[in-house]
Amino acid sequence: MITPPTIHAFLPPKRILMGPGPSDVHPQVLAAQARPTVGHLDPLFIGMMDELKQLLQYAFQTKNDMTLAVSAPGSAGMETCFVNLLQPGDTVIVCRNGVFGERMRQNVERCGAIAITVDNAWGEPVNPQAVEAALKAHPEANFVAFVHAETSTGALSDAKTLCALARQYQCLSIVDAVTSLGGVELRVDEWGIDAIYSGSQKCLSCVPGLSPVSFSPAAVARIQARTLPVRSWFLDQTLVMSYWSGGAKRSYHHTAPVNALYALHESLRLLAAEGLEQAWQRHNDMHQLLKLGLESLGLKFVVAEHCRLPQLNAVYIPAGVDDAAVRKQLLEQYNLEIGAGLGDLAGKAWRIGLMGYAARRENVALCLKALENVLA
Ligand SMILES: *Cc1c(COP(=O)(O)O)cnc(C)c1O
Repeated sequence: MITPPTIHAFLPPKRILMGPGPSDVHPQVLAAQARPTVGHLDPLFIGMMDELKQLLQYAFQTKNDMTLAVSAPGSAGMETCFVNLLQPGDTVIVCRNGVFGERMRQNVERCGAIAITVDNAWGEPVNPQAVEAALKAHPEANFVAFVHAETSTGALSDAKTLCALARQYQCLSIVDAVTSLGGVELRVDEWGIDAIYSGSQKCLSCVPGLSPVSFSPAAVARIQARTLPVRSWFLDQTLVMSYWSGGAKRSYHHTAPVNALYALHESLRLLAAEGLEQAWQRHNDMHQLLKLGLESLGLKFVVAEHCRLPQLNAVYIPAGVDDAAVRKQLLEQYNLEIGAGLGDLAGKAWRIGLMGYAARRENVALCLKALENVLA
C-alpha cells in the first residue's frame, strides 16, 4: 500500500492577472462555474448549449452554423481548424510574426500539407504585400493562415485585408483569434473569415480550457468533401457537430465540460450585455491610460502605435533592470502578475495584458503604481 499523503485543500491567492492570459475571471463567471453539475444530455443543459451557440455567433459576428466551443484550450482550437480542413498535399501560406504563427506551421506539416512561410519580424504585423507575392508565386496554394493578435509581441494584423486577399486567390483563410476575440474589432462574416479559433481565458475572461471555433459554409463544404477521414477522432467536427447541433436529438460524442460551459455562457452573456463595440472601446481606453503611464515611467513599446494591440502591451525592459526580480516583487508585494517575454523577446520585454475583466481603471492604476515603486 502506498500511504495516503496529507494534503490540504488548495487555496489560491487572489492575484491580479495582467499577463498574456489567463486573465482575471469575472466573479459572476466563477460563480456560474460553481453551480450544480447536470447531465450533459439534460434537456435544460441542451437549452443552455443552444444559447451558448447564439452568444458565440454574436461574439464572432457570424451566422455560421458550425460555431461551437472545443472542449480544450486554444491550442486545440488551432489543431481543430488544421486537422479538419487540411489533407496531405494541400498547400498553406503560413504567416509568421511571432510564436503562434510558427505553431501554425507545425500543425500544417503534421497534417502532411505543405507550408509556405511568409515571415515578418517580431513586433511587426503580417505584411499583406508579402502574402500576395507568396500567393502569386504559389498558385497551387489553397489556404492562408495567420494570427490576428500575436500575443508573443502585441502586434495586430489586418485580418480584413488578409482574408480578402485569400479569397481573391481562391484560398480559404484560417485565423487565430485567441487574443483578439472580445478585445479588438473582429467581424467573421463581413471580413470573409473561413475558419477561426479563440480561447476562453483571454479577452473573454472566462476560465481556461475552452476554445470557441467557427467555420464558414465554404469551410464546411471543404470538410465534407474530404477524401480521407480527419486524423483526430476527438477533434473531428463532423462527429462533434452531432452533439452541438442535434437540438433535442443530440447524441453522445464526449462528455461536455459542463461547468466550464456554464462559465463560458456567463462570460459571453456579460460581453453581450456590455456590447461588443463597447468592449472593444473599453480595451482601447484602458490601453491609452496604461500607455501614458508606462511612457512616463520611461518604458518603450515593442510595437509601433498603428498596429499595437490594446490588450497586450509589450514594453522593453530597461537596461540594468533584473527581469525576474521585478516580476517576483510584483507578484509577492502586489499580487500582480505581468507576463515575461516569449521566444525572441525572452528577457528583453514584459507583456502587460489588459484582457477582458482585467481591462479596468483600477488595474491600470495598480499596475502603474506597482511598477513605479518596484523600478525605483
Ligand atoms: C494563448 C494563445 C494560444 C494558445 O491558447 P492556449 O489556450 O494556451 O492553448 C494560441 N494563439 C494565441 C495567439 C494565443 O495568444
